[in-house]
Amino acid sequence: MKIKCTECQHVSRITHTKPQSESTTDLYCDCGHCGHRFVFTLSFSHTVQPPTFDESRWLLNTVRKLSDDDKKELLGELLGELTK
Ligand SMILES: [Zn+2]
Repeated sequence: MKIKCTECQHVSRITHTKPQSESTTDLYCDCGHCGHRFVFTLSFSHTVQPPTFDESRWLLNTVRKLSDDDKKELLGELLGELTK
């Protein structure tokens, strides 16, 4: 991954990373060209294609990340499908 310096547009070096959450990490950058030191935030956006190794495990992990209210709503919808 290449991060361009926001001051001079040269490629900067990532000196270290600091996780902010399960899906967000701060990248501490150092521009060797102009000396600018700055932080970029890298974050997960969305899945384009679920992993093929185990879709049921991926789905379970995804559901576990939902709020309790969203889990209840999903469970209600699934139970509604079972009774049809
Ligand atoms: Zn720079």
